[in-house]
Amino acid sequence: MDEVAAIFDTVTIIGAGLIGSSLARAIKRGGLSNNLVLCDQDKAVLQEAEALCLADNYIADVKLATEGSDLIIFAVPVGAIEAIGIVISPVLKPDAIISDVGSVKSKVLKALKPIVPDGVHLVPGHPVAGTEESGPAAGFASLFDDRWCILTPEPDADEAAVQKMEDFWRTIGSRVEIMDADHHDLVLAITSHVPHLIAYNIVGTASDLETVTRSEVIKYSAGGFRDFTRIAASDPTMWRDVFLNNKDAVLEMLGRFSEDLTALQRAIRWGDGDALFDLFSRTRNIRKRIIDAGQETPDADFGRSHEPGVDD
Ligand code: NAP
Repeated sequence: MDEVAAIFDTVTIIGAGLIGSSLARAIKRGGLSNNLVLCDQDKAVLQEAEALCLADNYIADVKLATEGSDLIIFAVPVGAIEAIGIVISPVLKPDAIISDVGSVKSKVLKALKPIVPDGVHLVPGHPVAGTEESGPAAGFASLFDDRWCILTPEPDADEAAVQKMEDFWRTIGSRVEIMDADHHDLVLAITSHVPHLIAYNIVGTASDLETVTRSEVIKYSAGGFRDFTRIAASDPTMWRDVFLNNKDAVLEMLGRFSEDLTALQRAIRWGDGDALFDLFSRTRNIRKRIIDAGQETPDADFGRSHEPGVDD
Protein backbone atom coordinates (compact mmCIF):
# COMPACT_ATOMS: atom_id res chain seq x y z
CA MET A 1 0.00 0.00 0.00
CA ASP A 2 1.29 3.50 -0.88
CA GLU A 3 2.35 5.72 1.98
CA VAL A 4 0.00 8.68 2.56
CA ALA A 5 0.20 11.87 4.63
CA ALA A 6 -0.58 11.29 8.29
CA ILE A 7 -4.27 11.79 9.07
CA PHE A 8 -3.55 12.27 12.79
CA ASP A 9 -0.51 13.65 14.54
CA THR A 10 -0.68 11.51 17.70
CA VAL A 11 -2.75 8.33 17.90
CA THR A 12 -3.11 6.32 21.12
CA ILE A 13 -4.32 2.74 21.07
CA ILE A 14 -5.38 1.40 24.47
CA GLY A 15 -5.05 -2.39 24.43
CA ALA A 16 -2.19 -3.99 22.50
CA GLY A 17 -3.84 -7.35 21.85
CA LEU A 18 -4.91 -8.91 18.56
CA ILE A 19 -6.94 -5.95 17.31
CA GLY A 20 -4.89 -3.13 18.90
CA SER A 21 -1.62 -4.55 17.60
CA SER A 22 -3.08 -5.21 14.13
CA LEU A 23 -4.30 -1.63 14.04
CA ALA A 24 -0.87 -0.40 15.13
CA ARG A 25 0.76 -2.37 12.31
CA ALA A 26 -1.77 -1.06 9.77
CA ILE A 27 -1.25 2.55 10.96
CA LYS A 28 2.52 2.14 10.62
CA ARG A 29 2.18 0.47 7.23
CA GLY A 30 0.06 3.35 5.93
CA GLY A 31 1.97 6.17 7.70
CA LEU A 32 -1.33 7.35 9.21
CA SER A 33 0.16 8.92 12.33
CA ASN A 34 3.32 10.86 13.21
CA ASN A 35 3.39 9.53 16.74
CA LEU A 36 1.78 6.20 17.60
CA VAL A 37 1.38 5.39 21.29
CA LEU A 38 0.50 1.91 22.54
CA CYS A 39 -0.91 1.43 26.03
CA ASP A 40 -1.78 -1.80 27.85
CA GLN A 41 -2.42 -2.67 31.49
CA ASP A 42 -0.30 -5.79 31.10
CA LYS A 43 3.41 -4.82 31.27
CA ALA A 44 4.48 -8.06 29.56
CA VAL A 45 2.14 -7.32 26.64
CA LEU A 46 3.58 -3.82 26.31
CA GLN A 47 7.14 -5.20 26.36
CA GLU A 48 6.18 -7.74 23.72
CA ALA A 49 4.70 -4.94 21.56
CA GLU A 50 7.91 -2.93 21.97
CA ALA A 51 10.05 -5.91 21.00
CA LEU A 52 7.93 -6.17 17.85
CA CYS A 53 8.47 -2.40 17.16
CA LEU A 54 4.74 -1.81 16.73
CA ALA A 55 4.62 1.86 17.81
CA ASP A 56 6.71 4.95 18.60
CA ASN A 57 5.93 5.02 22.32
CA TYR A 58 4.81 2.41 24.86
CA ILE A 59 3.11 3.82 27.95
CA ALA A 60 1.43 1.75 30.65
CA ASP A 61 -0.26 4.69 32.41
CA VAL A 62 -3.48 5.31 30.53
CA LYS A 63 -3.65 9.03 31.44
CA LEU A 64 -0.09 9.70 30.28
CA ALA A 65 -0.71 7.67 27.14
CA THR A 66 -3.76 9.71 26.11
CA GLU A 67 -2.77 13.23 27.19
CA GLY A 68 -2.40 15.42 24.08
CA SER A 69 -3.47 12.66 21.72
CA ASP A 70 -5.54 13.51 18.62
CA LEU A 71 -7.17 10.10 18.29
CA ILE A 72 -7.70 7.63 21.11
CA ILE A 73 -8.91 4.13 20.19
CA PHE A 74 -10.06 1.65 22.82
CA ALA A 75 -9.00 -1.85 21.78
CA VAL A 76 -9.83 -3.54 25.10
CA PRO A 77 -12.72 -5.86 26.00
CA VAL A 78 -16.03 -3.98 25.85
CA GLY A 79 -16.57 -4.25 29.62
CA ALA A 80 -13.34 -2.31 30.32
CA ILE A 81 -14.12 0.73 28.15
CA GLU A 82 -16.25 2.81 30.55
CA ALA A 83 -13.77 2.68 33.44
CA ILE A 84 -10.91 3.76 31.19
CA GLY A 85 -13.09 6.55 29.76
CA ILE A 86 -13.67 7.94 33.25
CA VAL A 87 -9.93 7.96 33.99
CA ILE A 88 -8.84 9.68 30.76
CA SER A 89 -11.73 12.12 30.41
CA PRO A 90 -10.01 14.99 32.34
CA VAL A 91 -6.85 14.88 30.19
CA LEU A 92 -8.45 14.77 26.73
CA LYS A 93 -7.34 17.48 24.33
CA PRO A 94 -10.09 19.71 22.81
CA ASP A 95 -11.05 18.45 19.34
CA ALA A 96 -9.63 14.99 20.03
CA ILE A 97 -11.57 12.01 18.67
CA ILE A 98 -12.49 9.05 20.88
CA SER A 99 -13.18 5.79 19.11
CA ASP A 100 -13.07 2.06 19.77
CA VAL A 101 -13.09 -1.32 18.04
CA GLY A 102 -15.55 -3.04 20.39
CA SER A 103 -17.83 -5.78 19.07
CA VAL A 104 -20.87 -4.20 20.79
CA LYS A 105 -21.83 -0.61 20.05
CA SER A 106 -24.97 0.56 21.88
CA LYS A 107 -23.62 -0.01 25.41
CA VAL A 108 -20.28 1.59 24.47
CA LEU A 109 -22.02 4.67 23.11
CA LYS A 110 -24.23 4.98 26.20
CA ALA A 111 -21.27 4.49 28.54
CA LEU A 112 -18.96 6.98 26.85
CA LYS A 113 -21.41 9.73 25.91
CA PRO A 114 -21.79 11.25 29.38
CA ILE A 115 -18.06 10.97 30.06
CA VAL A 116 -16.65 12.57 26.92
CA PRO A 117 -16.09 16.30 27.57
CA ASP A 118 -17.55 19.05 25.36
CA GLY A 119 -15.37 19.68 22.32
CA VAL A 120 -14.15 16.05 22.20
CA HIS A 121 -15.77 13.93 19.48
CA LEU A 122 -17.11 10.42 19.96
CA VAL A 123 -17.09 8.16 16.88
CA PRO A 124 -17.49 4.51 17.95
CA GLY A 125 -16.40 1.83 15.50
CA HIS A 126 -16.18 -1.91 14.93
CA PRO A 127 -13.87 -3.47 12.36
CA VAL A 128 -15.60 -6.71 11.38
CA ALA A 129 -12.38 -8.67 11.19
CA GLY A 130 -10.60 -10.92 13.62
CA THR A 131 -9.29 -14.34 14.52
CA GLU A 132 -9.56 -16.62 17.53
CA GLU A 133 -6.05 -15.58 18.66
CA SER A 134 -5.14 -12.97 21.30
CA GLY A 135 -2.14 -10.81 22.10
CA PRO A 136 0.32 -8.64 20.13
CA ALA A 137 2.17 -11.49 18.40
CA ALA A 138 -1.10 -12.68 16.83
CA GLY A 139 -1.80 -9.38 15.05
CA PHE A 140 -1.04 -8.58 11.42
CA ALA A 141 -1.26 -5.43 9.28
CA SER A 142 -3.57 -6.83 6.61
CA LEU A 143 -6.28 -7.99 9.05
CA PHE A 144 -8.61 -5.15 8.04
CA ASP A 145 -7.92 -5.18 4.28
CA ASP A 146 -11.21 -5.38 2.35
CA ARG A 147 -13.14 -6.02 5.56
CA TRP A 148 -15.98 -3.79 6.72
CA CYS A 149 -15.52 -1.27 9.49
CA ILE A 150 -18.87 -0.11 10.91
CA LEU A 151 -18.93 3.35 12.49
CA THR A 152 -21.86 4.17 14.80
CA PRO A 153 -21.75 7.92 15.56
CA GLU A 154 -24.88 9.58 16.92
CA PRO A 155 -26.85 11.63 14.35
CA ASP A 156 -25.59 14.89 15.93
CA ALA A 157 -21.92 13.82 15.95
CA ASP A 158 -19.36 16.25 14.52
CA GLU A 159 -19.37 15.70 10.75
CA ALA A 160 -15.69 16.50 10.31
CA ALA A 161 -14.73 13.98 12.99
CA VAL A 162 -16.88 11.26 11.41
CA GLN A 163 -15.37 12.03 8.00
CA LYS A 164 -11.88 11.81 9.49
CA MET A 165 -12.63 8.37 10.91
CA GLU A 166 -14.05 7.24 7.58
CA ASP A 167 -10.85 8.43 5.86
CA PHE A 168 -8.77 6.72 8.54
CA TRP A 169 -10.39 3.31 8.08
CA ARG A 170 -10.46 3.57 4.28
CA THR A 171 -6.75 4.37 4.26
CA ILE A 172 -6.16 1.36 6.49
CA GLY A 173 -7.74 -0.70 3.71
CA SER A 174 -11.26 -1.28 5.03
CA ARG A 175 -14.66 -0.59 3.57
CA VAL A 176 -16.68 1.73 5.79
CA GLU A 177 -20.37 1.77 6.66
CA ILE A 178 -22.19 4.18 8.99
CA MET A 179 -24.89 2.47 11.05
CA ASP A 180 -27.15 3.09 13.99
CA ALA A 181 -25.64 1.48 17.12
CA ASP A 182 -28.75 -0.58 17.98
CA HIS A 183 -28.99 -1.88 14.43
CA HIS A 184 -25.30 -2.81 14.49
CA ASP A 185 -25.89 -4.88 17.63
CA LEU A 186 -28.81 -6.73 16.06
CA VAL A 187 -26.90 -7.50 12.84
CA LEU A 188 -23.79 -8.65 14.70
CA ALA A 189 -25.89 -10.74 17.09
CA ILE A 190 -26.85 -13.04 14.22
CA THR A 191 -23.65 -12.83 12.13
CA SER A 192 -21.15 -13.13 14.97
CA HIS A 193 -22.43 -13.39 18.53
CA VAL A 194 -24.94 -16.25 18.17
CA PRO A 195 -22.53 -18.29 15.97
CA HIS A 196 -19.91 -17.97 18.71
CA LEU A 197 -22.46 -19.03 21.32
CA ILE A 198 -23.40 -22.08 19.24
CA ALA A 199 -19.72 -23.01 18.93
CA TYR A 200 -19.12 -22.59 22.67
CA ASN A 201 -22.23 -24.67 23.34
CA ILE A 202 -21.51 -27.57 20.98
CA VAL A 203 -17.90 -27.87 22.12
CA GLY A 204 -19.08 -27.75 25.75
CA THR A 205 -21.74 -30.41 25.09
CA ALA A 206 -19.25 -32.71 23.36
CA SER A 207 -16.77 -32.42 26.20
CA ASP A 208 -19.49 -33.31 28.73
CA LEU A 209 -20.82 -36.39 26.91
CA GLU A 210 -20.49 -39.64 28.82
CA THR A 211 -21.35 -42.14 26.07
CA VAL A 212 -18.71 -40.76 23.69
CA THR A 213 -15.24 -40.50 25.13
CA ARG A 214 -13.27 -37.27 24.90
CA SER A 215 -10.54 -39.03 22.92
CA GLU A 216 -13.14 -40.08 20.32
CA VAL A 217 -14.32 -36.46 20.03
CA ILE A 218 -10.74 -35.37 19.34
CA LYS A 219 -9.95 -38.33 17.05
CA TYR A 220 -12.99 -37.90 14.79
CA SER A 221 -13.15 -34.09 14.96
CA ALA A 222 -12.59 -33.68 11.20
CA GLY A 223 -16.28 -34.49 10.67
CA GLY A 224 -17.16 -30.84 11.41
CA PHE A 225 -16.54 -30.50 15.13
CA ARG A 226 -13.04 -29.05 14.77
CA ASP A 227 -14.40 -26.09 12.77
CA PHE A 228 -16.49 -25.18 15.80
CA THR A 229 -13.48 -25.60 18.10
CA ARG A 230 -11.64 -22.85 16.22
CA ILE A 231 -14.39 -20.37 17.07
CA ALA A 232 -14.82 -21.78 20.57
CA ALA A 233 -11.11 -21.10 21.22
CA SER A 234 -11.79 -17.32 21.10
CA ASP A 235 -10.82 -15.12 24.02
CA PRO A 236 -13.07 -15.83 27.07
CA THR A 237 -12.90 -12.28 28.48
CA MET A 238 -13.76 -10.62 25.21
CA TRP A 239 -16.71 -12.96 24.56
CA ARG A 240 -18.02 -12.82 28.12
CA ASP A 241 -18.20 -9.04 27.71
CA VAL A 242 -19.92 -9.32 24.30
CA PHE A 243 -22.75 -11.43 25.74
CA LEU A 244 -23.11 -9.31 28.88
CA ASN A 245 -23.28 -6.12 26.82
CA ASN A 246 -25.42 -7.26 23.88
CA LYS A 247 -27.92 -9.21 25.93
CA ASP A 248 -31.19 -8.06 24.33
CA ALA A 249 -30.17 -8.50 20.68
CA VAL A 250 -28.55 -11.90 21.37
CA LEU A 251 -31.62 -13.15 23.25
CA GLU A 252 -33.89 -11.96 20.44
CA MET A 253 -31.82 -13.79 17.79
CA LEU A 254 -31.54 -16.89 19.99
CA GLY A 255 -35.34 -16.99 20.18
CA ARG A 256 -35.55 -17.09 16.38
CA PHE A 257 -32.76 -19.67 16.27
CA SER A 258 -34.56 -21.95 18.74
CA GLU A 259 -37.79 -21.79 16.72
CA ASP A 260 -35.94 -22.77 13.55
CA LEU A 261 -34.10 -25.54 15.37
CA THR A 262 -37.43 -26.94 16.56
CA ALA A 263 -38.68 -26.93 12.95
CA LEU A 264 -35.56 -28.87 11.94
CA GLN A 265 -36.09 -31.38 14.75
CA ARG A 266 -39.64 -31.89 13.47
CA ALA A 267 -38.43 -32.37 9.87
CA ILE A 268 -35.98 -35.06 11.02
CA ARG A 269 -38.57 -36.77 13.22
CA TRP A 270 -41.15 -36.91 10.40
CA GLY A 271 -38.63 -37.81 7.72
CA ASP A 272 -39.33 -34.60 5.81
CA GLY A 273 -36.37 -34.84 3.39
CA ASP A 274 -37.70 -32.03 1.18
CA ALA A 275 -37.62 -29.54 4.07
CA LEU A 276 -34.05 -30.56 4.95
CA PHE A 277 -32.89 -30.47 1.33
CA ASP A 278 -34.48 -27.04 0.73
CA LEU A 279 -32.80 -25.53 3.79
CA PHE A 280 -29.39 -27.05 3.01
CA SER A 281 -29.62 -25.72 -0.56
CA ARG A 282 -30.45 -22.21 0.66
CA THR A 283 -27.60 -22.24 3.16
CA ARG A 284 -25.13 -23.44 0.53
CA ASN A 285 -26.16 -20.44 -1.55
CA ILE A 286 -25.42 -18.04 1.34
CA ARG A 287 -21.85 -19.35 1.45
CA LYS A 288 -21.51 -18.74 -2.28
CA ARG A 289 -22.73 -15.17 -1.86
CA ILE A 290 -20.19 -14.53 0.93
CA ILE A 291 -17.40 -15.77 -1.36
CA ASP A 292 -18.74 -13.69 -4.27
CA ALA A 293 -18.74 -10.62 -1.97
CA GLY A 294 -15.00 -11.14 -1.32
CA GLN A 295 -15.50 -11.87 2.41
CA GLU A 296 -14.12 -15.42 2.13
CA THR A 297 -12.09 -17.53 -0.28
CA PRO A 298 -13.52 -20.72 -1.79
CA ASP A 299 -10.66 -22.75 -0.25
CA ALA A 300 -11.43 -24.71 2.86
CA ASP A 301 -9.46 -23.20 5.71
CA PHE A 302 -9.70 -23.54 9.48
CA GLY A 303 -6.10 -24.70 9.49
CA ARG A 304 -6.63 -27.43 6.91
CA SER A 305 -3.90 -28.26 4.48
CA HIS A 306 -5.02 -27.90 0.88
CA GLU A 307 -2.79 -30.72 -0.29
CA PRO A 308 -4.72 -33.50 -2.02
CA GLY A 309 -5.47 -36.34 0.29
CA VAL A 310 -4.85 -34.34 3.45
CA ASP A 311 -8.11 -32.42 3.47
CA ASP A 312 -11.28 -34.04 4.59
P1 NAP B 1 -6.97 -9.19 23.28
O1 NAP B 1 -6.08 -9.77 22.24
O2 NAP B 1 -7.30 -10.00 24.50
O3 NAP B 1 -6.33 -7.80 23.76
C1 NAP B 1 -6.92 -6.95 24.68
C2 NAP B 1 -5.80 -6.28 25.45
O4 NAP B 1 -6.38 -5.20 26.21
C3 NAP B 1 -5.10 -7.21 26.46
O5 NAP B 1 -3.70 -7.08 26.39
C4 NAP B 1 -5.65 -6.72 27.79
O6 NAP B 1 -4.79 -6.95 28.89
C5 NAP B 1 -5.79 -5.23 27.52
N1 NAP B 1 -6.63 -4.57 28.50
C6 NAP B 1 -7.73 -5.05 29.11
N2 NAP B 1 -8.22 -4.12 29.96
C7 NAP B 1 -7.39 -3.04 29.88
C8 NAP B 1 -7.34 -1.79 30.55
N3 NAP B 1 -8.26 -1.48 31.46
N4 NAP B 1 -6.35 -0.91 30.23
C9 NAP B 1 -5.42 -1.25 29.32
N5 NAP B 1 -5.38 -2.45 28.67
C10 NAP B 1 -6.37 -3.32 28.96
O7 NAP B 1 -8.39 -8.74 22.67
P2 NAP B 1 -8.78 -8.35 21.16
O8 NAP B 1 -9.21 -9.58 20.46
O9 NAP B 1 -7.71 -7.49 20.57
O10 NAP B 1 -10.12 -7.51 21.41
C11 NAP B 1 -10.07 -6.14 21.74
C12 NAP B 1 -11.39 -5.49 21.33
O11 NAP B 1 -11.62 -5.70 19.95
C13 NAP B 1 -12.63 -6.06 22.06
O12 NAP B 1 -13.48 -5.00 22.45
C14 NAP B 1 -13.32 -6.90 21.01
O13 NAP B 1 -14.73 -6.92 21.20
C15 NAP B 1 -12.94 -6.18 19.73
N6 NAP B 1 -12.88 -7.01 18.50
C16 NAP B 1 -12.29 -8.25 18.56
C17 NAP B 1 -12.25 -9.03 17.42
C18 NAP B 1 -11.60 -10.41 17.45
O14 NAP B 1 -11.84 -11.22 16.55
N7 NAP B 1 -10.77 -10.71 18.44
C19 NAP B 1 -12.77 -8.55 16.22
C20 NAP B 1 -13.32 -7.27 16.17
C21 NAP B 1 -13.38 -6.51 17.34
P3 NAP B 1 -5.11 -8.19 29.88
O15 NAP B 1 -4.79 -9.41 29.12
O16 NAP B 1 -4.23 -7.93 31.07
O17 NAP B 1 -6.58 -8.12 30.23
